[in-house]
Formats: sequence, structure tokens, C-alpha cells
Amino acid sequence: MARRKKLYEGKAKILYEGPEPGTLVQYFKDDATAFNAEKRDVIEGKGVLNNRLSEFFMDGLSAIGVPTHFIRRLNMREQLVRSVEIIPLEVIVRNRAAGSLCKRLGIPEGEALPRPIVEFCFKNDDLGDPLVSEEHIIAFGWASQQDLDDMVSLALRVNDFMSGVMLAVGIRLVDFKIEIGRVWEGDFQRLVVADEISPDSCRLWDIRTGEKLDKDVFRQDLGNLADAYTEVARRLGVLPNNTTQMTKPHLIN
Ligand code: UDP
Repeated sequence: MARRKKLYEGKAKILYEGPEPGTLVQYFKDDATAFNAEKRDVIEGKGVLNNRLSEFFMDGLSAIGVPTHFIRRLNMREQLVRSVEIIPLEVIVRNRAAGSLCKRLGIPEGEALPRPIVEFCFKNDDLGDPLVSEEHIIAFGWASQQDLDDMVSLALRVNDFMSGVMLAVGIRLVDFKIEIGRVWEGDFQRLVVADEISPDSCRLWDIRTGEKLDKDVFRQDLGNLADAYTEVARRLGVLPNNTTQMTKPHLIN
């Protein structure tokens, strides 16, 4: 394939110029980082699994009318996405207490929250992605009040969808992070779910055993990260097409 122009390289993905205007190619790397990249490793196969899982979740969201940047998967590690203007906020939804919420408020890990809680963090690695309020977001012009309302409603729809999909395979969606982008259609803008949805950006616990099946396995040295992600993919019926991992038999017409 001809060399494409690299537009951006992040911790887990690379963005290349897409084949048509308004598109990008999103490449999933095997790199894992945590604690603002203080801990890092290469986990063979992680990029392939996240490419598949993100495709699965984005396709499902589209099917229920939640707009996303995803167009189609191109190969094992790449997907074609719409180019969007990323809003510089991490949108976090929490169903149970975990991670920074426990540290900040002294709530025991795993405690059910009275309702899903939506939080915003300012995307800035140098500052460690600090939690910000709606006041900060509007005052500093990162998003308008209308955008905020739309972001909360998108995030809660993603939460309902993801919680249901996970519950069906015996996994509790504890919390997750999404990124949201603006797409311009003439003079109008629309907000869409962008970036990725994968076990890198969710907390997923086995409902029966409480086993962690997400990036905390890497953060907390709990075992092999690729095995945990493979288990999520296996339960969802999403596995890379290769000779060693057959999914289900197909009828030949
Ligand atoms: N998260 C993420 N990227 C970040 C920060 C958080 O994907 O830069 C996800 C994280 O995996 C978890 C949720 O957002 O599912 C809430 O994370 P939390 O605020 O508890 O931060 P953490 O303790 O993971 O740093």
C-alpha cells in the first residue's frame, strides 16, 4: 500500500490521512500505557482486539441511532472513520465507584451509585486530564451549553447500550470514557461518538466472580491483558478471523 501521511500518533493509536476528504484511517497499536504513560508495555494482539471490539460497539450504537465517527473496518488493525473536530474533553460515565472516584470521594470500590454519573475531564496530558465542571467548560469555550446537553445525552445512551450488551454476556459495565467530536454539515454541526470504545477505556467486571476484564489488569498487574480482552471478545462473539480462533460454523449456500 502507498505510504500515507501520518497526522497524529497517540498512546494507543495512529491517525493517517484517509482515502477521501473528510475521512481518516485509525490504526490500533499494541502499546499499553497507564498512569499518564508512566507505565508502558507492548501487549501483542491488543490492537487487533480493540479494533474489532470498537467496530462491534460503534456498529451497535449506529444500529440504535447513536451517531459515531465509524465508517468501516479496513483490516486487522485499521478502520476508516470520519474526520471530526474532537472536543477536548474526556466524557466519563460511572455506574459503580472505581478508580479516581474512590480516591476523590472515599467511596469503596464497587459501590453502586444512586444513578449514572457523568463527569468531564480536560484532555491535557501535562496536567493529568483534570476533572472540570460545566462552568469551566463554558467559560473557557471548550463547548457550549447546547453541546454539553447533547454530550450528556449521548454519553447516557452509550451507557445504556453498553451496559445492556455487557450484561447479556455476564459482564458489569462499571465505568467508561468516550470522546466526542463535531461534524459539520453545511452550517450545522452534529456531535458524534469518536475515538474508540474498547476495554482500554472501560471498566468491565465479571458479574459472577468480579474478575477484571479491562485495562486495570495492566494497571494493577493482575494477569495477561490480551487474555482478558480476548475473553470479552469471545463472550461477545467478536474474534479476529484467523486460523486458530474459529468462531461459529457458517452455512454454505
Ligand atoms: N479512562 C480512560 N482514559 C483516561 C482516563 C480514564 O479511558 O485518560 C477511563 C478508565 O479506563 C475508566 C474511566 O475512564 O474506565 C474512569 O476512569 P477514572 O477517572 O477512574 O481514572 P483512572 O483511575 O482510570 O485513572
